[in-house]
Amino acid sequence: MLDLLRPDQYFRSLYDVDFDQLVEMGIRGIILDLDNTLVAWGDDSISEELMSKVDHLRRLGLKMCIVSNNLGGRVAAISRKLGIPAASGALKPFRRAYAKALEILGTESRETALIGDQLFTDILGGNLAGLYTILVDPISSREFATTKLFRLLESVARVRLGLAREGWRSVPRRASGQPGVVPENRHKME
Ligand SMILES: [Mg+2]
Repeated sequence: MLDLLRPDQYFRSLYDVDFDQLVEMGIRGIILDLDNTLVAWGDDSISEELMSKVDHLRRLGLKMCIVSNNLGGRVAAISRKLGIPAASGALKPFRRAYAKALEILGTESRETALIGDQLFTDILGGNLAGLYTILVDPISSREFATTKLFRLLESVARVRLGLAREGWRSVPRRASGQPGVVPENRHKME
């Protein structure tokens, strides 16, 4: 179980992720969590920093899709503003949450990375779906009450996984990682 919660990489934020490295590793598609990964929870304003990061990813030839457990209008509005398709009401961590995203991206799971801020939805779901998983710290401490409960469990799991709360580092790839795309030597180990 603990292994299913282990992200392939861990960074402080989306802006610290080495996307050039991901492209070199054969990643072609990126599934993005919305709340507290791209924008603060409940916020629908798009920063210039986010806009230019999205442009950067586009220039690298990466396809993107937002996957959110949230429903409706706000997800659609942000999706429109960023020009990135979205699958909302996704029921992460269940596998089918990502099936739709992979269909939209037109990529295989092994060439797709997922970036999210929650171990028990994003990372667990991504690992179950065979994606390359990247954990980031949440942008804001505001979130659903249920999410806050999961954060308690998460803090226990983080200690077990050796994921410190502060600072970023990449984590060793799971021994049982997906075959093929990722040369082991490309992976930063600490
Ligand atoms: Mg989130």
